[in-house]
Amino acid sequence: MRNKLCAAALLASVFPFAAQAQDPVGDVAWDILAGLTSEVGPRMPGSEAEARARTWADARLKALGFSNVTTEPFPIRGYVRGRDEASLIAPIPYKLAVTALGYSGTTPDKGIDGEVVYFSTLDALKAAPTGSLVGKIAFIDHAMKRAQDGSGYGPYGQVRRAGPAIASAKGAIGVVIRSIGTDSHRNPHTGGTTFADGVKPIPAGAVSNPDADLIARIARSGKPMRLSLVLTGKTTDNLPSGNVFADLPGRDPSLPAILVGCHLDSWDLGTGAIDDAAGCAIITAAALKAQEGGKALRTIRVLWAGSEELGGFGGKAFAAKHAEPYALAMESDFGAAKVWRVGFSFADANKPLADRIAAALSPMGIVRGSGKANGGTDVEPMIEKQKLAVVDLDQDGTHYFDLHHTPDDTLDKVDPAELAQNVAAWTQVLKIVANEAAPILPAP
Ligand code: ZN
Ligand code: ZN
Repeated sequence: MRNKLCAAALLASVFPFAAQAQDPVGDVAWDILAGLTSEVGPRMPGSEAEARARTWADARLKALGFSNVTTEPFPIRGYVRGRDEASLIAPIPYKLAVTALGYSGTTPDKGIDGEVVYFSTLDALKAAPTGSLVGKIAFIDHAMKRAQDGSGYGPYGQVRRAGPAIASAKGAIGVVIRSIGTDSHRNPHTGGTTFADGVKPIPAGAVSNPDADLIARIARSGKPMRLSLVLTGKTTDNLPSGNVFADLPGRDPSLPAILVGCHLDSWDLGTGAIDDAAGCAIITAAALKAQEGGKALRTIRVLWAGSEELGGFGGKAFAAKHAEPYALAMESDFGAAKVWRVGFSFADANKPLADRIAAALSPMGIVRGSGKANGGTDVEPMIEKQKLAVVDLDQDGTHYFDLHHTPDDTLDKVDPAELAQNVAAWTQVLKIVANEAAPILPAP
C-alpha cells in the first residue's frame, strides 16, 4: 500500500492532473476521449475492437450533427499479439519487461534463447560483418532524450523501424531493442517494425528503459549474456480495417474543403488515450466550435483514419479513393499537451492569411515556427496527391514519449485544461481557414 501511495505521489508530481475525480461536464472533446477509451478500449489495427470503434465513431459523429458520416473499409496486413515474455538467463536470471513489435516474427511456444550481442547504436549494428549474428540475439541500444518538439523520435525511432530487419539480414535469430521512449519505468514501448520482402521476419521485442540499462551495464562488464524470448504473436493478412469521415457542410460547397485528421486505431497495451483518441477529440470538437457563430464558408471534413499504427494504411486508402478537391489539411496526433507552436506550408500569396492565424494564436502563448508544416501520417498522402496547404499546431512533446505506445497511455494522463487549450487553438485556426474565400495554396 505504501508503495502504491509513493507511486501515486510520484505520478502526481509529473502529471499533477492524474486521478481526475470527475469528468468535465458537457465537453465534446472530453466525451469523445473518455468514450473511445472507456467504451471501446484499445483499438489494434484490423481487430474486432477497431471495428467496434468505427461503429462507435459513426454513431457519435451522427449524434454530434455531422453530415455524410461514412465508413470506408479496406483490408490490411495486421499483427495479432500473442504471449510476450523475455528473461535474462546469464549472467543473472531476470524477467524482463518486454513487448513484441508489430510485424515481429513468431517464436515457438517454448521460445528461443541465444547469446546476446550488444550494439550501442543502429550504426554499430549496420557495421557488424555479414553472418556475424548467426544463431545470436541482437540487442540495439540508443540515446533518445526528451525534447519539447519530440524530435528524437525520427532518428532514434529508426532503431525500432529498421533495426530488426538489419539484424535478420546478418543472421540473428531474434532482436531486442531499448524501447523508443523517455521514461524510466518498467513499461516497454511497442510500435511497428518492417521486414522488406526477402528479409526473414525474426522475433523482435522492446524492453523497458531500466531493463535496457541493465543489459547495457552487463555488456560493459564484458560478461557473456544470454536471454530467452517468447513472442508468439502473428502477422496476419486480410484483416478488416476502415476509415470513418464526416462533414460539416460549408455555405459554398463549390469551394475545396478543409480536411482535418486523426487516427482511430491504437496500440493495445493501454487504451490509446493520447495516441490518438485525443487527436480525434480535438479536431472534432474544434470543427463543431468553429461553426458556433454560423456555418463556415468551406466544408470541414473530419477523417478518423484506421490502421495508422502499422503503416499509415488509412491515410493511404483515403487518398487513393478520393478525388474531390481539398484546400488545406491538418492533423492532431501528438497527444493532448498544450499547443506551443504554429507552422505553415503556405504560398507567398497566403502570407497575410498565415499572419492572421499567428496573430489569433499569439495571445494563447503559441509562437510561430519557421519550419515547413507537413500535417501527419493520416493526411500526408492527400497533401502529396493534391499539393495542399498545411497548418501544424505543434503540441508540447516533453512528456509524450514517456507514455507513447505503453500501458500508461490511459485517460488519466490527459489534463482537461490542456485538452481544452488544444480545442481552442484548433477552433481559432479552423474559423479563419474555413472562412477564407481566396484560394489557399501550399509553399512551393
Ligand atoms: Zn498516433
Ligand atoms: Zn502511435
